[in-house]
Formats: sequence, C-alpha cells, structure tokens
Amino acid sequence: TLENNSQRKSSRIRVTVRPCPLTAEQNGRNMPTPWNIDCASSQIEHPDLGFFQYDHVFATQDDNQCVFDVVGSPVIQQCLDGYNGTIFAYGMTGSGKTYSMRGVVRNSVSLLFDNCTKKKINYMTCSILEIYNEKLNDLLAEDNKNTRFPNLSSDLRIVDDDKFGISVRGLREVRVTSTDQLLALIDQGELLRCTDSTDYNYRSSRSHFIIMLKLFMEDNEGTEIVSSLNFCDLAGSERATSHTDRRKEGGYINKSLLALGTVITKLSENVGSSANVHVPYRDSKLTRILQPSLSGGSMVSILCTIQLGLNVIGETTNTLRFGFRAR
Ligand code: ADP
Ligand code: MG
Repeated sequence: TLENNSQRKSSRIRVTVRPCPLTAEQNGRNMPTPWNIDCASSQIEHPDLGFFQYDHVFATQDDNQCVFDVVGSPVIQQCLDGYNGTIFAYGMTGSGKTYSMRGVVRNSVSLLFDNCTKKKINYMTCSILEIYNEKLNDLLAEDNKNTRFPNLSSDLRIVDDDKFGISVRGLREVRVTSTDQLLALIDQGELLRCTDSTDYNYRSSRSHFIIMLKLFMEDNEGTEIVSSLNFCDLAGSERATSHTDRRKEGGYINKSLLALGTVITKLSENVGSSANVHVPYRDSKLTRILQPSLSGGSMVSILCTIQLGLNVIGETTNTLRFGFRAR
C-alpha cells in the first residue's frame, strides 16, 4: 500500500527515476507514450501494468543540477559524515545513464572540494575501473598512458585482507588535490573506456564504468576515518537477461548486472531486520568490489533512467521493476 511505501522512505536504498526527453525525431512524429509520470506523488503509471512507487520521479525537463540535488547530494553528505556510499545509473542503452552520471559526478566533485576544510578532509584518492566480461581493468594504469593501444586486459584480482578488507590488488589510486585535477583524471578514464574498442557504444553498453573515491578525514578527536564513494555507470540493462533468455542474446549474459539485482533485492527485503541473511556478494566482480559500500550503514542511491517510447515498453518495464524491487 501507499502508506507502507512512504514509511520505507527512510531506507538507506533510495531509488529515483529519470525519464529521457523524447528526441526531436520522436517529437516530430508526435510519439505517444503509455506512461503517466506523476512527479508530485513520485509514481509512474501504465494503464495495464498499474503504478510503480519510488522515492523520487524526475520530470523530463529537469536538468542535471536538479538530479544531483536528489540523487547525489544526500550520499555526499553521508560520506562526509564517515559513511560509505554508492550511486548507480541503471537503464537500457540510450536512456541517459552516462549523461546523468556525468552531471552527478561533476557536481559531486565540486561539493566535495567545497567541504574539504570544513569537514577536515586530509586528502582524497581516485581509482577508475571497468568491468568488461567479468574482467577488471584499471583505466588509470600508468602503462596505459601515452599509448595508442592501451593494455586493458590486465584483469586485476580482488583480495580480501584481514586488515584492509576488500580491495583490488594493483589498482592505481591517484591522490587528488583539486576539482580540475580530479575531473581531468575522470576524462582520462572515460577516454580509455572507448579507445580499446572499435565501437564505443558496443563496449559501453556491455561494461560497467566505476569511479571510486576515498575520503581520508579526521573526526573530532583527530582520528583518521576513511569513506568510500563510488559512482557506477552500469552496463545497459538490456544485458540483464536471465538464463532463459540466453539463446536470444547469443549466449551473452552480464553476470555482474544480474548479481547486482539479486544483491540489491536481498538488501532491501532485509532493511531493519536483524536476521543474518545471506547476501550473495561473491556471485560477481561488481557486487564483490562494492560489498563494503553496499553493506552496513552505507547509503545507496539508484537512478533508473528510462525511455518513454512505445517501442521500448518491455525494457522500460524491466527497469521500473528493478527499481521498484530495490526499495
Ligand atoms: P546511455 O548511457 O544510457 O546509453 P546516454 O547518456 O548516452 O545513454 O544518452 C543517450 C543520448 O541521449 C545522448 O545523446 C544524450 O546526450 C541524450 N540525453 C540523455 N538524457 C538526456 C537528458 N536528460 N536531456 C538531454 N539529452 C539527454
Ligand atoms: Mg552510456
């Protein structure tokens, strides 16, 4: 019921939906949409499927600043208070994941550096990696610099250390001291994501692009605390095909995307429960490396991006269901 949904608003998993504006071509054809976007009640409705409830639903004309205020800002605030956080963009290819995530990242970086002195951030580090076919690639690796043919086949290993917890062995961590330096690094990482492939769209629709920041801060007693903050531009959700759909996709399956769905659903089902439920973080590279930022008191913000056209109702429904289950 609606009452239940609003009670769950305090959940540490927040789910928002951003509909992509219709293209000029779609507008030109006066394309009808079956979806009714109700921003006031944060619902999206379909005449046959009923309504889906979220923490927030954006209007098509809302800009990236507006999206950041709802999707990014609360997570940044939590991280500045010593918690871990992860922000995801989830949706089919072409629905606006990269467009939205770039805006969120840029605004987040500014907010972080604005707070450097107030929140006693001693320093920050940045790593950028890609998960492609369940392989981890370091997009900031030194040996990738100044080469036309970057070595992206490094396939880094995940280690679980008693002292430092889960980390990616050998992943480059760059110490960052200014907004401009960090944004330049992110540009460098994004560039590598596309140079190894003849077709940027092909690769970006199949890979997860992850920016990992670490904030080294001091609490009031002068003790060092570290928060992790991750931004994930996920593979296209049309890759989240289940085993039964495998034949259609030529055998292709995105293990990390499927595992993320399972993990998020498990987490949301058990918010506030003291039972020790099994969450299958180990099922994929993505869920394994993000485990410290999905569990415990971490804050998770999922931005579902959708297209409103009649031609993609199936994909849009899948995205809406994913987001609905995650709350
Ligand atoms: P995805 O990363 O999900 O495949 P993109 O972010 O690349 O999708 O978006 C597809 C296209 O739509 C891009 O040309 C992008 O600039 C445009 N676009 C996406 N969202 C918006 C938006 N909210 N406003 C204006 N243009 C958008
Ligand atoms: Mg993209």
